[in-house]
Amino acid sequence: MIAAFDIPVTKVDRSRLSDTPLENLPFGRYFTDHMLEAEYADGEWKSVQIRPYQALSLEPSLAALHYGQAIFEGIKAYRDAEGNAFIFRPFDNFRRFNTSAARMNMPEVPEEIFMEGMRKLIALDKNWIPAIKDHSLYIRPFMFATDSMLGVRPSATYKFLIILSPTGPYFAAPMKILVEEHYTRAAPGGVGFAKNAGNYGGSMLAVTEAQKQGYDQVLWTDAFEHKWLQEVGMMNVFFIINGVAVTPSLEEGTILHGVTRDSVMVVLKEMGLPVEERRINIDELLAAYGKGQLQEVFGTGTAAVIAMVKELKYKEFQMTFNVDNSPIAKAVKERLNAIREGKAEDLHQWMWKV
Ligand SMILES: *Cc1c(COP(=O)(O)O)cnc(C)c1O
Repeated sequence: MIAAFDIPVTKVDRSRLSDTPLENLPFGRYFTDHMLEAEYADGEWKSVQIRPYQALSLEPSLAALHYGQAIFEGIKAYRDAEGNAFIFRPFDNFRRFNTSAARMNMPEVPEEIFMEGMRKLIALDKNWIPAIKDHSLYIRPFMFATDSMLGVRPSATYKFLIILSPTGPYFAAPMKILVEEHYTRAAPGGVGFAKNAGNYGGSMLAVTEAQKQGYDQVLWTDAFEHKWLQEVGMMNVFFIINGVAVTPSLEEGTILHGVTRDSVMVVLKEMGLPVEERRINIDELLAAYGKGQLQEVFGTGTAAVIAMVKELKYKEFQMTFNVDNSPIAKAVKERLNAIREGKAEDLHQWMWKV
């Protein structure tokens, strides 16, 4: 059993923080002074340590590079006016990480390493959390297979790391979305509900082709009919139809169980809006649009929180939305940001103090 106080720390000789202005940093390009690293071998996690952020030395035969056992998480930390660091709903990400691990036939990471390791790492690099409006520290835990072998079998060894990236406001420009009718992101029985690296690799061509046609992202549909709606890009999707919030349900295992999705549902209910988690297809959307009942469409995720959709294209049908008049998305975003920045009461204990 590893306790946080047992995790050895090697500190940098000199922090890079003073060379890194934290204002308006682009997403995911700068990293803090330290990282957490742990090794899995002989059926157990060992060598947990925090050390200076640095390159890894890996063999070309590294199993993760060939056969894709690689998973990750995305979490955000904030600093309040008193300088205290808080992490938004990290236990949900911890649980989801181990759900992803189980699906990819990888070992689970114990809570002491994931949660206490994260706490200790963030406490150490706390000054890297920008205390600026709309800024945060993005936390990236990840795990990958490290056996050096080309035989196809689950790796016997793994590495788990946490790296931290200070990030500025993630301006989510309103998106033009193409309803995807050819490519598939996830099918029942597949890995769509896991946050594994391959889901992203498999999505990129569809997005690039949509971009060539002038769209920003795709709205993923089911593998069989290309009608049932799943996610918008790498975000969960919400439709406000005639005063009801509808989001695709999770039971088929084709949709990532977003922490933001869950938070948005809670906030919507608190605002008095009925929320429905259910299957929804493009025909229903077109019909609602035709009747003037499709009020707002938006994506949800940790990076952008909420990203509005300004246009949806399906076959010859084009649906457009006035994003400047999106009172529900706007209210949800403001409420979530207020909770994260310590300006609204945290009714659900979402903020975890470091
Ligand atoms: C990470 C992710 C999301 C958003 O999840 P959050 O927990 O809200 O950040 C949605 N869809 C996909 C495919 C994702 O990988």
